[in-house]
Amino acid sequence: MQDLLETIPGVALWLASTKLDPQVAPKTADEALRQTLDHARSVVQDLAEHSQDPRALTAFNALLARGHRERYLAATGPATRVVVPEPVWTVAWLAAENYLDLLEHSADRIRRCEHPQCVLWYLDTSRSRTRRWCSMKVCGNRTKADRHYRRRTATTTSTDPDQWQSSRARQS
Ligand SMILES: [Zn+2]
Repeated sequence: MQDLLETIPGVALWLASTKLDPQVAPKTADEALRQTLDHARSVVQDLAEHSQDPRALTAFNALLARGHRERYLAATGPATRVVVPEPVWTVAWLAAENYLDLLEHSADRIRRCEHPQCVLWYLDTSRSRTRRWCSMKVCGNRTKADRHYRRRTATTTSTDPDQWQSSRARQS
């Protein structure tokens, strides 16, 4: 897997894939922008992993303090605009604000991919809310392949953690 936020061409590619409002989207990708995005990602990831950690909260709130939304009256009626005094932080700020919205409305659907080697988090938008992997195509299939391999190589002594737990439950 390639980390798009590691290089400037990667950031450009990532930007092109987002559906950012053209009025706030950066025109070009550069190192300063790459650093703000990388920072936003680590702050949000830290918070997702340690939601009660005061340091994670402080770092997140510091990012959130870099901007705000301002209401005003336009000729067409009431409107809102994003105000980020240092424009290079605009996308990072939007990411933080977005995360805040997710916490407010869908906190129970923010999940970490169940594949042990995967670092990704995702929003479970499935109707049944039982999605387990960032991508069925990638990690879902990887998990199935691992399971298949384990079953084929299993001996009479089971090392399956599920079975181990259920046999323990029966004992107690
Ligand atoms: Zn995954």
